[in-house]
Amino acid sequence: MIRIENLVKRYGSKYALDGISLNIDKGEVVGFLGPNGAGKSTTMNIITGYLSASSGNVYINGVELLSDPIGVKTMIGYLPEQPPLYVDMTVREYLNFVFDLKRCEYSRKKHIDEICSVVKIADVQNRVIRNLSKGYKQRVGIAQALIGNPPIIIFDEPTVGLDPKEIIEIRSLIRKLGEKHTVILSSHILSEVQVICDRIVIIDSGRIIADKPTEELARVAGRNKRFNAKIAGPAREVIAAVKEIAGVKSIEATGENDNGAYSFVIEADANTDIRRALFETLAALSFPMLGLEEVNASLEDIFISIVDSKFESESEATGARAAWDDADSDI
Ligand code: ADP
Ligand code: MG
Repeated sequence: MIRIENLVKRYGSKYALDGISLNIDKGEVVGFLGPNGAGKSTTMNIITGYLSASSGNVYINGVELLSDPIGVKTMIGYLPEQPPLYVDMTVREYLNFVFDLKRCEYSRKKHIDEICSVVKIADVQNRVIRNLSKGYKQRVGIAQALIGNPPIIIFDEPTVGLDPKEIIEIRSLIRKLGEKHTVILSSHILSEVQVICDRIVIIDSGRIIADKPTEELARVAGRNKRFNAKIAGPAREVIAAVKEIAGVKSIEATGENDNGAYSFVIEADANTDIRRALFETLAALSFPMLGLEEVNASLEDIFISIVDSKFESESEATGARAAWDDADSDI
């Protein structure tokens, strides 16, 4: 359905995209995962025809993007990072406007009513967009992407800046849309693409560094388990004792609390449950464990496992690990 061949985008001497190739089949829900500046938005802007590539080709349903830009645009609904909202219009006026812009041939009222009901904005239709919450604005952005019922929908970081409740709702809406449309979503949050997408494409520095079914990638990420522990006792002795427990790969003190307890990060083999042995070891030494929490793998962890496994398999690899633009928080 979407075929991308060797996309390159240069800004001066800088490569924003450095050879992206990808095939996406009908019905797939694909996540573009990568840190800020990786090239996710650039790729999406090129697929949707908003930006031209320095070189490379995009085919939608076998049709070259540039040979029929208008035809191809009717195939794709796009929610850019900054939704293209006219904030002085009411929701209904705006959706009518988009309907005309897309020269939609559906029955106007029925089509817009249906979309409002799917994205749950029927109750704010007559409100001016400026006055809506961020979550509602984002829903209006999704509604404009759905007008014309395009088979492909592309969402660029659709949950950025939303509150946790809105994030959950927008994610479940996108999952639902994925039942009937081919969907591409970008995110810098691993858990987000994990819950929404069947397939994850990891982009870094303008290149694809992994392209795998979600389950398989989760397995790569799941080789280690990480715990945050709070233990009352002298840090050095705690570390010496915990290191001896079968399955523990490393332990590091990350901070001291005022009551003589320390925070530790413990890395353990994913196939060994260290929790009982940890408790017993600490109890025997009278170092009370005040807290233990398993931490989910972050994008950074998964990225490092991929880069590490590449280093293991390609001794000539020279790629340096990227610095992360922002510390990722998984919700
Ligand atoms: P992402 O969406 O993954 O955060 P982008 O696709 O927005 O990344 O950006 C990819 C790279 O291209 C970044 O390094 C960014 O700074 C650069 N870039 C994007 N747009 C421009 C532009 N108009 N001029 C120069 N550099 C740009
Ligand atoms: Mg972006």
